[in-house]
Amino acid sequence: MSCGDVMKKLTGKTWDRVFQDLRARLGWPAGDTRRGGLPSVSQVAADNPGDPFRILVSTMISLRTKDDVTLAASRRLFAKASTPAALAALTEKEIESLIYPAGFYKTKAVHIREAARRVEKDFHGRTPADRDVLMRLKGVGRKTANLVLNLGFGVEAICVDTHVHRISNRAGWVRTKTPEETEMALMEIMPRKYWIPLNELLVKYGQTVCTPASPHCGSCPLACARCERRGVTRTRE
Ligand code: SF4
Repeated sequence: MSCGDVMKKLTGKTWDRVFQDLRARLGWPAGDTRRGGLPSVSQVAADNPGDPFRILVSTMISLRTKDDVTLAASRRLFAKASTPAALAALTEKEIESLIYPAGFYKTKAVHIREAARRVEKDFHGRTPADRDVLMRLKGVGRKTANLVLNLGFGVEAICVDTHVHRISNRAGWVRTKTPEETEMALMEIMPRKYWIPLNELLVKYGQTVCTPASPHCGSCPLACARCERRGVTRTRE
């Protein structure tokens, strides 16, 4: 099926409708995405408002790790140590056992302890609200830094993970090869008010509806009129 060129049709009103429809499909009330069923790092943010350090650590745990594992590992770790000073005082082995079975838990334990030590020592225990500074921490890439800016500081930035990259290209909003290209392209076409909510919305949507293999196009409100379904060969209800 050809669904036309979605990119040419995107306006501010179209984005309003896209966000409304995706939220409705997930059962999220309009204007309130912070009630239940959130992606793990968003849940950590909702549980701990104004705590960018926990968002930093939780996002580091989340890389290549299932959402439920990330949330459980984050909660175990923070129950033991939730501040930079307390976390830096743990041994790598202790962190490993607390975040296990997160993917690459041994490497992450090293990076998390080092990040805690740097935040405590270099920034007096305050997580820096600066993308470039955050990205100087080992284990912190652009995606993690942007999510910390978004959820920890309310700074408008677009956090592009695998779900945001895949759905944005499938839908035809952008035509890009890398997450960084997607971030730049979305910044050109998307109203700023959606930069922060985009990630948690598309992460949840990518986990449950626009899944990597065989997305649920049959029950997706974007089907055809606002999604080109580029590269999609198999769909289901
Ligand atoms: S129509 Fe299909 S491919 Fe497009 S966003 Fe919806 S689920 Fe994903």
